[in-house]
Amino acid sequence: MTYTDELSSLCRKLCCECRAEESLKRHTTFKIGGNCKILININSSNSLKEILKFLKERNIKYFVLGKGSNILADDNGFDGVILKVSKDFSHIEKIGETEIFCTAGTSLSKLCIFAMENSLSGLEFAYGIPGTAGGALFMNAGAYGGELRDVVKSAHYINEACEICSIDAKDMKLSYRHSIFSEQSDWIITDMTFSMIKGDYEQIKEKMNELLNKRKDKQPLEFPSAGSTFKRPEGSYASLLIEQCGLKGMSVGGAEVSTKHSGFVINKGDATFEDVIKLTDKVRKCVLEKTGYQLELEPIILK
Ligand SMILES: Cc1cc2nc3c(=O)[nH]c(=O)nc-3n(C[C@H](O)[C@H](O)[C@H](O)COP(=O)(O)OP(=O)(O)OC[C@H]3O[C@@H](n4cnc5c(N)ncnc54)[C@H](O)[C@@H]3O)c2cc1C
Repeated sequence: MTYTDELSSLCRKLCCECRAEESLKRHTTFKIGGNCKILININSSNSLKEILKFLKERNIKYFVLGKGSNILADDNGFDGVILKVSKDFSHIEKIGETEIFCTAGTSLSKLCIFAMENSLSGLEFAYGIPGTAGGALFMNAGAYGGELRDVVKSAHYINEACEICSIDAKDMKLSYRHSIFSEQSDWIITDMTFSMIKGDYEQIKEKMNELLNKRKDKQPLEFPSAGSTFKRPEGSYASLLIEQCGLKGMSVGGAEVSTKHSGFVINKGDATFEDVIKLTDKVRKCVLEKTGYQLELEPIILK
């Protein structure tokens, strides 16, 4: 019996859906990537713990995926197991007057709508970020002046020894697109609690719609991408530098520096991993030569 057969039978026992030789194109917003050996849709902390134990005992390579909205996956695929912490592990609850609890697979947009419906303010900035709560905490996702660190209170995660641990926000080392979870590659976020403030339903709704419309106006949402392709360099903006260097619209194969928002590399239809890497390398080289700024890729490479 191969490990994939054993793992499939464990998944059946845990009621987790699993798929063999699944294309990562279907699980990343860039719509790029080859196949993985097995993709498992995680449905609870307990299933995650059991599956992790299985993988660690056998030294099998794995990767935790949320909605894949900040991922650039290799066309050669991933020779291991994808643990997809997304909609099958999604639950939101109000705690007391002003706190919200959610599991890691909860969609950020659903979380924002839940907050709005409960007249709780603080997460408006996150409306429209196409990730999960877990992926957002991992990256300390942010937009329009807000960041996860402004609202998160605490979280639970599974550590390297497959134990469930809790952590307070002050210990999460949250800074620009960084958290303790991005340092500790073995930790998997399972849930989190947010401290919100009481607000006015109409005002919260208005703010969320205003920010969503800004996204629609400024971002090339009609094409697959992983959002901002480069991190914001200290003292400037990646999109501004790229535009100043005249790189808007530059392309390699199916990958293009968006003409709508130069901070986005988009997939025009048939972009490969190599196309994106070659294009981003060219952009980085040119920006460095012309402006002295060193751009860093924001998406996580999955290979
Ligand atoms: C059109 C578009 C617009 C975007 N706008 C923004 C924006 O305004 N602001 C912003 O910050 N980002 C933005 N992004 C990027 C992305 O949506 C965010 O970074 C998001 O938080 C990633 O969440 P995810 O669930 O998709 O994570 P994934 O992309 O699946 O994973 C990202 C990283 O998080 C890790 N991870 C995921 N879940 C867990 C977990 N439960 N435990 C531990 N690690 C985990 C993964 O291993 C991976 O390393 C945008 C992307 C797109 C496509």
